[in-house]
Amino acid sequence: MSRAAPPSVGARAGAGDADPAALLCPSAAAEPGRSVVFGVAGAAPRAGETPGDSGRTVAYLTKTVPVPEDVAALTAPVAPNAVLRTAAPCAGSGCRHFSGHSCTLIERIAVALDPVVDHPPACAIRGTCRWWAEQGRVACVRCPQIVTDREAPSEAYALAMAPPERMTA
Ligand code: SF4
Repeated sequence: MSRAAPPSVGARAGAGDADPAALLCPSAAAEPGRSVVFGVAGAAPRAGETPGDSGRTVAYLTKTVPVPEDVAALTAPVAPNAVLRTAAPCAGSGCRHFSGHSCTLIERIAVALDPVVDHPPACAIRGTCRWWAEQGRVACVRCPQIVTDREAPSEAYALAMAPPERMTA
């Protein structure tokens, strides 16, 4: 399958005025007291959506919900992030995906995975999403296929998720 051309800078239309310190990671782990649920991953694609790399799609919530203390029990036998999309404050340089100025995870997703929707889906965290802030619609039209804790990923998906080598000790 041919891949979409890598996004150009001109394709970016994100929340450039967002406070970097307030940005949320939309691929954060489900941690009670720290993260919020903004989507449920695992639905079949809807009309107008293509299956995408994961073959699953995210149903975005109209409002975020704090991750409950018993989240692991609620999603058992699967891991919380096999079925939930959760967001938490971006860890910045504390994250293995952060380059020092940007999120390399969404940069790789933008290159490796095709869009699955024509328009950004309604999303409760858009105003503070780091992926949106950096990549705009390029991120949003690929986002519904992202399952943070995905079993048996395709080669393209695994490459997109793999963090870069640390350049400094
Ligand atoms: S749909 Fe867009 S704004 Fe919402 S989490 Fe995904 S990338 Fe961020």
